[in-house]
Amino acid sequence: NEKVISDIEIAQKAALLPVGAIAAKLGLSEDDIEFYGKYKAKISFEKMKEVESQPEGKLILVTSINPTPAGEGKSTVTIGLGDALQQLGKKTMIALREPSLGPTMGMKGGAAGGGYSQVVPMEEINLHFTGDIHAITTANNALSALLDNHIHQGNELQVDQRRILWKRAVDLNDRALRQIVVGLGGPGQGVPREDGFDITVASEIMAVLCLAADLQDLKKRLSRMVIAYNIHKQPITVKDLGVEGALTLLLKDALKPNLVQSIEHTPAFVHGGPFANIAHGCNSVIATKTALKLADYVVTEAGFGADLGAEKFLDIKSRAAGLSPSAVVIVATIRALKMHGGVAKDELQKENVSALEKGLENLKKHTETIGHFNLPFVVAINRFSSDKDSEITLLKEWCQKHSISVSLTEVWGKGGKGGLDLGEKVLEAIQNNSGTFSFLYDEDLPLDEKIRTIVQKVYGGRHVEFSVKASQQLKQFNDIGWSHLPVCMAKTQYSLSDDPVKLGRPCDFTIHVREMKPKLGAGFIVVLTGEVMTMPGLPKKPAAYQMDVSEEGKAIGLF
Ligand code: ADP
Repeated sequence: NEKVISDIEIAQKAALLPVGAIAAKLGLSEDDIEFYGKYKAKISFEKMKEVESQPEGKLILVTSINPTPAGEGKSTVTIGLGDALQQLGKKTMIALREPSLGPTMGMKGGAAGGGYSQVVPMEEINLHFTGDIHAITTANNALSALLDNHIHQGNELQVDQRRILWKRAVDLNDRALRQIVVGLGGPGQGVPREDGFDITVASEIMAVLCLAADLQDLKKRLSRMVIAYNIHKQPITVKDLGVEGALTLLLKDALKPNLVQSIEHTPAFVHGGPFANIAHGCNSVIATKTALKLADYVVTEAGFGADLGAEKFLDIKSRAAGLSPSAVVIVATIRALKMHGGVAKDELQKENVSALEKGLENLKKHTETIGHFNLPFVVAINRFSSDKDSEITLLKEWCQKHSISVSLTEVWGKGGKGGLDLGEKVLEAIQNNSGTFSFLYDEDLPLDEKIRTIVQKVYGGRHVEFSVKASQQLKQFNDIGWSHLPVCMAKTQYSLSDDPVKLGRPCDFTIHVREMKPKLGAGFIVVLTGEVMTMPGLPKKPAAYQMDVSEEGKAIGLF
C-alpha cells in the first residue's frame, strides 16, 4: 500500500484559516457570509445579488476516462489544480460536489479529495456538513407525506395510486427500502400503496437545487416536478398539489453555497451533489456562477467519466445556466489505463507497456468527445508510485504523436506544487484557444435523435434499441410536449457501452434504452440504459465498520 499517511490524518493535521479569512481573499466581508462554525460559511443572497454585475472568470472543467476500481483521483486533481493556480498567482476558486453519506458509509469512506489535495474540514464535509442534504431529504419526504395525505383526505386530484412517480428518500445505502408498501394498518393509517426509497442524492430535488438560478427559479422548478399520473393518465405536478411554497421554504438555506478551503487555503465551494447517472452529477449552478463572479479562475468537477459527467455538465448544466467553460482537464492514471487494456486489479503493480498502449484507446475516445464540444483540453496523469518509467515514457510519446497536451501531476503527494505544470498548461490552453464552445445537440431535436447523437458521438456506439415501454414513452412524452428537453443519460460509468465489463474502447455496440423518466423540475428526461440503481446497497464490508470517534470528538476511519 503506497499510502504512508492517510487522507484523514493529513486533513486533521492541516492548519486551517478561519473562514472569514478565506472569504476576505474573495473580497467578502463578514457581513457577506453566514457562519456555520469556525471553518464553514454560506454566502448571503444579498451578496450573490450584488456580485451579479461583476465580470466572470474562466471556468475549467475536470473530467476523466471511464472510472475503474483502480481509482482515478478526479477530485484530488481538481483541488490540486486549484491550489496550483493559486500558487501561480491567480485568483482561484474550487467548486465541488458535497459527498453523500451513502457511499461514505459504504465504499468510499470520504470524498473530499486525497493526500495533500483535499478540501477541509474533511470530516465535516463528509458527515453532516451544513445540513443541506438533510434539508433536501426533508423536502423530499414532506412532498411524499403531503401526497399521501391528499389521497387519504379524498384524493381530489384523482391520483392513480399505481402510477405515483415520487418516492421517499434517505441519504444512506439501504437496499431493504428499495420497494416497500406504505399505508398499512387500516383506514386510520392512510391508503396502502407501493412505494420505495431513493438515496437523497438521486432525488429530483437535489437536481433541482443544483440547477436553480435563485430562490424564485427554485420554486418554479419545484412546482413543475411531475409526481404522479391521474386516473386519466395525465401528469400531476407539485403545483397541482399546491405545496411548492412549503418545499422552497424548507430549502431556502440549502440553496446558499457553502464556503470552505483547501489544505493550501484556496477558497472552495462545496455545494450540492446529484448522482451522475440518474441526474447530471455536478455541484450547484449557484456555486459555480457565484465562484465565477468572485474569482478569475474556477476549477470544477463533473461526476464519473467524460461520457457521463462532462457530457451532462456541458449539455445540461451549461445550457441551463448559460455557462461557457474555457478548458477541460481529462484525468487518467496509468493503473486505470492498464485496466482498460485488460490487466486485472491485483496485477497493476507490474510493468505492462502493451496493456497501457491498448488502454489508451479509452483516453483517446474521451479526447475526441471533448473535441465535439469545441473545447481545448489537457490530459492530467495522476501519478501513482507504482507507475514505471517505461510506462510514463510510452504515455508521453503517445500524447506527442497525437498532439495531445499532457501533464504528469503529483498533487496527491505534493499539493499545488505537484500541479504547477498542469496549471501552466491549462492557462496556455485557455490562452491559445480560438474555438467557441458548442453543445453536442440542438434542443429542438426529437428525444430519440438526441439519444442517438450522444450514443454515436460520445459513446462511440452504432445503434440505439428502445424497449417497448421506452418506445411508448417516446410517443407519450412527445404528445405531452416534453420532447424539447435535454436528455440525462443513466448508464454504467465503467464502460462507454451499457455493459460494465466492456472496458477500453468498445465499438459498433448497441445501447439499450429500457425506460425514461420525466424530470420536469430539473428540466431533463432521464434515459435509463441497463440496470441503474437509485438506492445503492452496502458492500459485504462497509466502510462504516472502521469508523469511530475519539474521546476528544475526532473522527476515525474516514479514509
Ligand atoms: P475520484 O474523484 O476519481 O473518485 P478521489 O480524488 O476521490 O477520486 O480519490 C480517490 C482516492 O484515491 C482517495 O483516497 C485518494 O487519496 C486516492 N488517490 C488519489 N490520487 C492518488 C495518488 N496519486 N496516489 C495514491 N492515492 C491516490
